[in-house]
Amino acid sequence: MSKPFKTLDDLGDIQGRRVLVREDLNVPMADGQVTDDTRLRATLATVTELADRGAIVLVLAHFGRPGGQRNPEMSLALVTRPYAQVLGRPVRFIDWDGAEDAVATMQPGEIAVMENTRFFAGEETNDPELVARIAAVGDAYVNDAFSAAHRAHASTEGLARALPAYAGRAMEAELDALEKALGNPDHPVAAVVGGAKVSSKLDVLKHLVTRVDHLIIGGGMANTFLAARGIDVGKSLCEHELAATCEEIMTAADGANCTVHLPYDVVVATEFRADPPTRTVNVHEVAADEMILDVGPAAVEALGDVLKNCRTLVWNGPLGAFETPPFDTATVALAKTAAALTRDGSLVSVAGGGDTVAALNHAGVAGDFTFVSTAGGAFLEWMEGKTLPGVAALYR
Ligand code: ADP
Ligand code: MG
Repeated sequence: MSKPFKTLDDLGDIQGRRVLVREDLNVPMADGQVTDDTRLRATLATVTELADRGAIVLVLAHFGRPGGQRNPEMSLALVTRPYAQVLGRPVRFIDWDGAEDAVATMQPGEIAVMENTRFFAGEETNDPELVARIAAVGDAYVNDAFSAAHRAHASTEGLARALPAYAGRAMEAELDALEKALGNPDHPVAAVVGGAKVSSKLDVLKHLVTRVDHLIIGGGMANTFLAARGIDVGKSLCEHELAATCEEIMTAADGANCTVHLPYDVVVATEFRADPPTRTVNVHEVAADEMILDVGPAAVEALGDVLKNCRTLVWNGPLGAFETPPFDTATVALAKTAAALTRDGSLVSVAGGGDTVAALNHAGVAGDFTFVSTAGGAFLEWMEGKTLPGVAALYR
């Protein structure tokens, strides 16, 4: 079946052709070492395929926030050697000064990392002159960096308009998974939205109530909804000023036949630290000096039953303060249920968000989910129902 965007399958014969590939090489580094090479590994499928097909592979990426100026500490030269190790192939580094000449010396199948696109002021303003300058060194453009696709920058959006443009393999997998989860999912669909604050995910909630059958609200967000319903949440993290907004979301959910699930039992403590004395109580029994730090066991069991009747799950945000035991309990339990249902083939499960990925790794089940997105901002914008400019530019 043909996809709404072009992929590497549409690229044809690329022997000796110069392909500009936007990747996410924005890795965390300490003392010259890459401390987490997840993003480098995510590029492997696309970059090796292009090289093996005889292309001259020119990897484009940003690194840090140099603010449109050269900054040696944010040079992608620093990432080139670790990247070569991950690829298991030699990788050249090419500065933009003299780039055309340098690229002209490359052989088919060779790979180069181009200097940080954010050294140019025109990157973030999507300046047509910069787009033309970069496009001059390539014959085709591949965007493989979903995580940067929510930004209409020269290297993510402009180039896709200037050159024949294709989705890389990682981008393709991400778009396929997101389509299966929210674009055209099997119903019933459940969404879990947790995390700290309602205010940071208002648009996500507003969009989801129109798309999903069950909206499961956990984490600090649930506190705001509980408070909006007149429940005393004590000292819990809570945005009281959003009560009216919460009511609007509940009303919109009603109108859209979306069932909103709020916890009815919770785990509370008077101190926020590892392993403090806790109580598991009904939401109506939270004392004035207590904080809700996790969803309770009865609610988690009921949520597991909801998932058992669903075909699709999309998850963003932990159910509790999972970094601090024992407030990881609900998140881990529901994640394990979702993982088991996915293994059984009854659930398509897609999750994303920085802390969500950490929580699923902590639960040991990230590999069991259908798809886990490591894109933070882009994943959230997609959950808000926005069309990402870097993705839109790839549509046929
Ligand atoms: P993501 O990065 O996956 O989008 P968020 O950043 O929105 O997720 O939220 C994650 C944070 O929410 C975690 O640091 C977690 O400790 C916090 N959190 C979850 N539940 C609570 C709670 N009940 N009280 C305070 N913080 C919470
Ligand atoms: Mg976060």
